[in-house]
Amino acid sequence: RVGIVADRDAPPPAPKGPLILAVGSGKGGVGKSTLSANLAVALARMGVRVGLVDADIYGPSQPRLLANEGKKPAAKDSKMFPVPSPYGVSVLSMGHLIEDGRAIAWRGPMVSGALGQLIDAWWGETQVLVIDLPPGTGDVQLTMVQKHKPAGAVIVSTPQDLALMDASRALNLFEAAHVPVLGLVENMAGYVCPHCGNLSDPFGLGAVEDAAKRLDMPFLGRVPLDMAIRLGSDAGEPPAAGEGPQAEAFAAIARKLLP
Ligand code: ADP
Repeated sequence: RVGIVADRDAPPPAPKGPLILAVGSGKGGVGKSTLSANLAVALARMGVRVGLVDADIYGPSQPRLLANEGKKPAAKDSKMFPVPSPYGVSVLSMGHLIEDGRAIAWRGPMVSGALGQLIDAWWGETQVLVIDLPPGTGDVQLTMVQKHKPAGAVIVSTPQDLALMDASRALNLFEAAHVPVLGLVENMAGYVCPHCGNLSDPFGLGAVEDAAKRLDMPFLGRVPLDMAIRLGSDAGEPPAAGEGPQAEAFAAIARKLLP
């Protein structure tokens, strides 16, 4: 098993900065941002000093997910300070820099520059910096992983065939950049009935785990499609910060990233 942090009590890995854990997906809408936020919160609850960069520059959602929307980062010597969240995770997101809802129509090189500034910020004692990558497997993603060299990557997919094909493209992207893939997470895995709590599997069971085997990467766990996850996320109350099966699903995945 590949752990992202060797020792939780270890001093921060200065002067190089924190270890980067990239969370990627082959396409949008599969829950990459939800997973990034909740993995960060789960790791923080386990005592890891965690930061989060929202590199999903066209659709930043972390300030909403981690309840620090509307806050502006301070800066010193032309470097930004991350914005604290109530959940022990500091965050930097394009969402902290743009005015409400203004669409960003930047070209690749400008995006790479902005991303670099979010990552090259005053992360201080942060041990693990989770990066919520932009969805997809294009040039922006490749440049980002080549330049910032994540220590490991997690790929998230839903159980549909098409999403799985895209997930294998994400695997190719990380392999091309020599980034170790720590494993595949199945999101929206089965449906939790909000009335009776029963779990059903509209897409069948085990597709992502099978795909992980086929692609020769570890399977890190499943998170069901659960109304409570959507509602908590929209309200800035990450399920991983609470109690119950939703928190446990994210904690189980986070534990697999530790030695
Ligand atoms: P991505 O970052 O891949 O585009 P998001 O994390 O923004 O995807 O998720 C897309 C939508 O699906 C959001 O409204 C989010 O709250 C919801 N969502 C994600 N994962 C789950 C889940 N396991 N259960 C219920 N809703 C989810």
